[in-house]
This record gives sequence, C-alpha cells and structure tokens, in this order.
Amino acid sequence: MAERPVIVVVDDEPAALAAMLDTLTRRFGGDYRVAPDLSALAALEAIARLKADGDEIALVIADQWMPEITGNEFLGRVRAIEPTAKRALLVAWGDHAASPTILQACAMGQLDNYLYKPWTPAEVHLYPLVSEFLAEWTRIHRPGMELIHIVGDEFSPRSNEIRELLDRNGVPFGFHPYASSAATRLAEQRGVGLGTLPTVFLLDGSVLADPTDAEIMDAIGESPDELSCDVAVIGSGPAGLTSAVSAGSEGLRTLVVERHVFARDVTRLQTNGVKKTLTISDGRQITATAVILTTGAAYRRLEVPGVERFVGRSVFYTTSARPGWCVVSTWRWPAGETRPGRQRSISPPSRAG
Ligand SMILES: Cc1cc2nc3c(=O)[nH]c(=O)nc-3n(C[C@H](O)[C@H](O)[C@H](O)COP(=O)(O)OP(=O)(O)OC[C@H]3O[C@@H](n4cnc5c(N)ncnc54)[C@H](O)[C@@H]3O)c2cc1C
Repeated sequence: MAERPVIVVVDDEPAALAAMLDTLTRRFGGDYRVAPDLSALAALEAIARLKADGDEIALVIADQWMPEITGNEFLGRVRAIEPTAKRALLVAWGDHAASPTILQACAMGQLDNYLYKPWTPAEVHLYPLVSEFLAEWTRIHRPGMELIHIVGDEFSPRSNEIRELLDRNGVPFGFHPYASSAATRLAEQRGVGLGTLPTVFLLDGSVLADPTDAEIMDAIGESPDELSCDVAVIGSGPAGLTSAVSAGSEGLRTLVVERHVFARDVTRLQTNGVKKTLTISDGRQITATAVILTTGAAYRRLEVPGVERFVGRSVFYTTSARPGWCVVSTWRWPAGETRPGRQRSISPPSRAG
C-alpha cells in the first residue's frame, strides 16, 4: 500500500496528459501520487490493481472523448471498482455535445463534476477545482479536527440530533460511543461521569450533560447577543440567505433568525409603527425596522407503518450526509449495514450538479 493516496489522470492525447501530470504533481505531489494513463481500458485495470493492493484512490480525472470508451462511461466503471473515489470529467470549452452527457452522468452518479480544458492558468481553472475534490475526499477519509466531542449512544435520536445540529453549522466535532476507550478517556480527563447521555465536551473544558440545542449553540458562541437590527430575516434557506446577503450588502444591520442555527424559533411577530418586534421561543425579543419572512414550507412524510420507532436511530430525513453514512433520497443509515427486512447494502451516492 502506497503512503500517498492516488490521483489517476486518463487522456489519450500524450501532450495533454503530460501537461496535466506535470501540473498536478507540482502542486499536489507532496501529498498525492499522480498516476497517468493514455488508455482508458488500461487505466481500469490499473485502478482495480491499486484497489486490490490496498491503495487509496482520491480522484480520477478522465477526458470525455477517448477512442476506447467515453470519459463518462469510463468514470461509471471506475465507480463500480472504487465508489469512494471522486470522479471528474475533462471537457473542452464550448463542447456543447458533452453537456447533456455531463448532466445525465451527474444525475446517475457516474461523475461528481467536470473540468474544462485547456485549463491554464492552473491557479484559476484547475487547482481550485481539484482542491475542492480533494478536500471533499479528505473530509470523509481522513480523521477530522474535533473542537467538540460528543459521547453518546450511536442509535439514540438525541445523539443524532446533536450531530446534525453541529454538522449544519459547520462545527468540527467527533462522536464517540459511550463504551469506547475515547469516551472513557475524555470522561477521566475532564473528571466527569457518563451517567447522563449524550454528553458534550466543549473546547473551553466545560461539559454539558444532555444539553438542549440552545444550550449548545450558546456555549459555542453562535447565538447573537445583539438583538436589535435594521432587517430581521426569519429562516436561512435559499430565500433567507439571498435576502440577508442582499440586505447586508446595502450596509443594513441584518440578523438571520434560523431555528437550526439560533436553536430557537420565532414564535410571534408584532408591529408598532415602523418598529417590528419578534419574540423568540426563549422569551427574548428582537427589534427590527423590516422583517423578511422566508420560513419555507413544511412537508408531509409518507406514512410507512412501523417507521416511527426507527426515526432518528437508523432512518433519517435529512439534507446533509455525514461521512460513513449512506443517503437514499432523504433516508440514510450506516454504510454497508444490513437490517432485518432490508438485506442489502448500498453505496454512498455522489454529489451531482
Ligand atoms: C426532501 C426534499 C428534497 C429536495 N431536494 C431538492 C433538490 O435536490 N434540489 C432543489 O433545488 N430543491 C430541492 N428541494 C426544494 C428546496 O429545498 C426548496 O425549494 C427550498 O429549500 C426553498 O427555500 P426557502 O428558503 O423558501 O425555504 P427553506 O429552505 O425551507 O428554508 C426555510 C427555513 O426557515 C426556518 N424556519 C421556519 N420557521 C421558522 C421559525 N418560526 N423560526 C426560525 N426559523 C424558522 C427553517 O428551519 C428553514 O431552515 C427539496 C425539498 C425537499 C422537501
């Protein structure tokens, strides 16, 4: 097994391949081994060999138009061999013939995204996109930074809610099952018991036993103290964020109140002339000159007999995927795990579009 994960590059044009090899090696060669191939079929064999030898393949880049098979077909076959490798299609600027293929291949999970060629200067057209692929791959395959540690029962709904809360807010955390040695070590270091779960260990040394979302977000400093603003936006979906960016760019003091960030709901809205007052679920009030309501829509779940007892344990309605978990539509469960009545495992999906 090689020490460095591999970036595979496939292009039947020798000059283009050599340029890509040279450029990627100069920038990423310290951390990744770049493996070039002129033949797509030979590359498939090489990838299968790397996999059999236990090498990690982080990224596969393939030209779309090659004589043996097209790039998107090649990447589809790569997926079958190594589903966790990121896959990028190389297409020429203005190649309109490739557009429907790219869209379809993204939708079918054959590839993650595409790169344009020519790609010079690499700093503008190549490195940022390749870095993005590698960052995504690394986030899933390398140990992450842990600013916050959660100790709990892996299948407790509350443990999963806290993980989702921190995920959504981009707070780096680690989860440790309560019987693990890491959990025991944390408890010993902080001098606390693990009688109440989940327990959250914060960066400043404090420990919260079975905290509410609001207690967690307050403790990590994500709740605003300043509760008066020019524009209050309720909800931070696409509509709320667009409104907030727009208001902020005009120099207006803008506050976004989102239940998944602020960990509180807006429960009441009153107007008194130009002044608007929002009451939030902890009783505090926010004053604003203008309020933009972008609370989205609630959706109904299809009724599946018996599913409720699994919700939050092994069935999740979610928009975010955690490393090591699989998502099927809006459901996910631990990778590769089979469950009674569902005797199959699934592959992690790819990001599309
Ligand atoms: C299962 C599912 C899958 C989807 N997949 C796709 C897809 O693949 N591609 C696509 O383009 N669209 C998809 N959509 C549609 C997309 O999510 C919506 O069109 C979009 O999110 C609407 O944006 P919005 O800002 O209006 O509302 P939302 O994104 O719903 O945002 C509203 C926000 O307001 C917050 N909020 C609500 N009430 C309060 C309150 N009282 N206090 C504080 N905060 C509050 C909510 O927590 C929420 O975050 C999907 C929708 C669903 C349900």
